[in-house]
Amino acid sequence: MPKGKKPSVEAFARGVTAETTKSVRAASKSKTESRIPTLEIAFHDVEGARTQAAQIKEFVLDNISSLLVQLEAKCKMNGIQVHWAKDAESARNLIARLCEEAAPVGSTIVKAKSMATEEIHLNEHLIEKGYEVVETDLGEYVIQIDHDTPSHLVTPIIHKNKRQVAESFSREGLGPYTESPEELAAQARRHLRDRFKEAKIGISGINFAIAQSGRLVLVENEGNNRLSTTAPDTHIAVMGLEKILPSEGDLPLFLRLLAGSATGQRMTVYVHMISGPRRKDENDGPSNVHLVILDNGRTKVLNGPYREILRCIRCGACLNVCPVYRQVSGHAYGHVYSGPLGAVLAPALEGVEQLPDVAKASTLCGSCEEVCPVKIPIPRMLLQLREEAVRKGVLKEPIPWSMFVFGATSGLRWRTGLKLLPMSKMAQHPMKNGWTEFRDLPEKQGRDFRKWWNGRS
Ligand code: SF4
Repeated sequence: MPKGKKPSVEAFARGVTAETTKSVRAASKSKTESRIPTLEIAFHDVEGARTQAAQIKEFVLDNISSLLVQLEAKCKMNGIQVHWAKDAESARNLIARLCEEAAPVGSTIVKAKSMATEEIHLNEHLIEKGYEVVETDLGEYVIQIDHDTPSHLVTPIIHKNKRQVAESFSREGLGPYTESPEELAAQARRHLRDRFKEAKIGISGINFAIAQSGRLVLVENEGNNRLSTTAPDTHIAVMGLEKILPSEGDLPLFLRLLAGSATGQRMTVYVHMISGPRRKDENDGPSNVHLVILDNGRTKVLNGPYREILRCIRCGACLNVCPVYRQVSGHAYGHVYSGPLGAVLAPALEGVEQLPDVAKASTLCGSCEEVCPVKIPIPRMLLQLREEAVRKGVLKEPIPWSMFVFGATSGLRWRTGLKLLPMSKMAQHPMKNGWTEFRDLPEKQGRDFRKWWNGRS
């Protein structure tokens, strides 16, 4: 989807093509199916592991100030320069200044995948300043050349298929047209290899920052994070302030939960532990490592009713399992964070007035909470957001439950309603918005229960 003003979730859903839905469903289904067997191999007690992870993240939220101070002190001891950014604008300006100190305007910046930098729209800012910014994650690279936006936390091009990627690569002259995934990956690799060599600055997100040791941890499968963080002379890492873990001992639990929940892997192909810039006796690595710690509304969320959403480790499992996300794709949510996570985090960060309808993009089936590795009570918060949006007058109140109660509390009204139900397919009525426009009511099957009950001997 091109960048620009987004329509409402409902309006967007009407325009989603069958091809997009097919791509999103296929990828999310396969990740969901591989998640449980992998976690069951990784943990004797998956439920216990999720509870433990949730408790650790709660501890982090309860003690975030002291843990951040500890992280800053340890990072500085390791030679990592720590910076604080209160909002997106100050983060963009700060990172632009760090870039100007590191390399002349016009230099190449290689970027590893990072939702925090998507959140603050960093690429656009640095390109405006005159830098050449190159996304190096395969999916993010496709997004960049297509002038698109990511539609999934972990798999940014989940909405595209092989043919669409092949057309983009061929259009950009990366090589002869092919729909072979291996060939397409090889074309991207050949193209990006030179960009790593010429880049003076590498920018990445991080998955975890360890307060005890001041170590930054990144996980990935492609190897582009390693090159982005080690080949250029300056590495700038950007993290939301909630990405902290108290101790090194917490890491094995979170690494296994993240890999299993995100991609159904027992462990990602690469796990990077960054402990500072290149030492005197080392040949490789950057001379300067910066860590930018981003607030951008998180402190407000921390002190509000949606606090638990800050436990999130960005695994994407709730997106993969969500029947609404599978149908409409990530772009429908109109924010960098999509799916059940985004339906809570985006309005929590930006205010429900900015995104009043995203909390409605849920059937409240509870699957998101069931798969969440840190047990975030997403359905409860979606209901709270809906209530807040209605209370603030930015969302229309749904058809009142009083109508249902009126029908269900009288035998005569209930029986009459059941008889009239088939006519609802033809009639225009206030409940015919959304659900019945896209779905047929199931046909009545088998015998009539009431007739059977009344006629039993
Ligand atoms: S809310 Fe839970 S399931 Fe969803 S991305 Fe975050 S950690 Fe994963």
